[in-house]
Amino acid sequence: MSYNFSKILKEKALKVTKPRLLILSVCASANGPLCAEDIHIKLQHEKINLTTVYRTLHSLEKADVLKRVDLHTDSVLYELPTHHHHHIVCTLCGLIEAFDECGMDSLVGNVVNDSKKFSTVQDHSLELFGICNACSRA
Ligand SMILES: [Zn+2]
Ligand SMILES: [Zn+2]
Ligand SMILES: [Zn+2]
Repeated sequence: MSYNFSKILKEKALKVTKPRLLILSVCASANGPLCAEDIHIKLQHEKINLTTVYRTLHSLEKADVLKRVDLHTDSVLYELPTHHHHHIVCTLCGLIEAFDECGMDSLVGNVVNDSKKFSTVQDHSLELFGICNACSRA
């Protein structure tokens, strides 16, 4: 999948800056969500400091260019909001696997039907936590 990040940034009324473009391309080539430290290491040769990485990630998240993923890790993780998917995480080694199946629609329908305070739901997050095969064998 290829992205035109300059166009995406302009559409979100964000200035096209080098750190933004670099961070987005790191996220695009990653296999899963990344934290600021991961991105900082991958951009070592670009001499972008960690504070800039944090600040840039925050602005990209606020503009919905990046999605924040909470996998109960110490650091906040980010990924591009591509297709709808969820993650399963190994609580021992941190291995992350993405999966596309989402059985949330019928649940959301029931919740909204029963709720007196909500009639629409736009989004949800669902992350599963378990132990990967390699860790269970160890
Ligand atoms: Zn993901
Ligand atoms: Zn594991
Ligand atoms: Zn879902």
